[in-house]
Amino acid sequence: MAYRVIPVTPFAQNCTLIWCPETREAAVVDPGGDMELIEQAIAQEGVQVKQVLLTHGHIDHAGASATLARQLGVSIIGPHRADQFWLDGLEQQSAMFGFSQVEGFLPDRWLEDGEQVQVGNLTLDVVHCPGHTPGHVVFVDKANQMAQVGDVLFQGSIGRTDFPQGDHATLIDSIKNKLFPLGDEIRFVPGHGPESTFGHERKTNPYVSGRWG
Ligand SMILES: [Zn+2]
Ligand SMILES: [Zn+2]
Repeated sequence: MAYRVIPVTPFAQNCTLIWCPETREAAVVDPGGDMELIEQAIAQEGVQVKQVLLTHGHIDHAGASATLARQLGVSIIGPHRADQFWLDGLEQQSAMFGFSQVEGFLPDRWLEDGEQVQVGNLTLDVVHCPGHTPGHVVFVDKANQMAQVGDVLFQGSIGRTDFPQGDHATLIDSIKNKLFPLGDEIRFVPGHGPESTFGHERKTNPYVSGRWG
């Protein structure tokens, strides 16, 4: 997998352009905003975007989805349908967080745990990881040991759980029992901040490393 992280929005959300080096087919993961930066990256890399992928329905991840997908003529895939209330509330989110008006939408395809998404010759496994939001999904390229985890896990931290339908115990369970078993070697791009690996977080992240936790 080849990829380029594009920090977008006032929340410095890690929108990621991922592509198959063999076919140069690409996907944009979590286009929260700053569409001109995303379009610039697509043009610079010379890749063919075929889809928009969403980890969850928060505005800093999903805000530019409808506009970008229409502009590129591609579908929006994900998250899990349990996040529909967040997408339905995108306009309220834009007012609450001071974003310019965003276009509401429903994805072309909801995702379920265990499904797969193709990007060229890359296969991404879909892992449903509720806790930060109920419909949060993570995309894992097992062949290349690379994951897009959104706001589930960060270097040294975990996602917030104080939003509606957030739940701390559920989030910890998602990380420990769904992500970490995928293997220490898996490198991940989180929704915010620097990259890390599951192994590094399993050993050092204070929220999920304790034997007692
Ligand atoms: Zn979020
Ligand atoms: Zn976020």
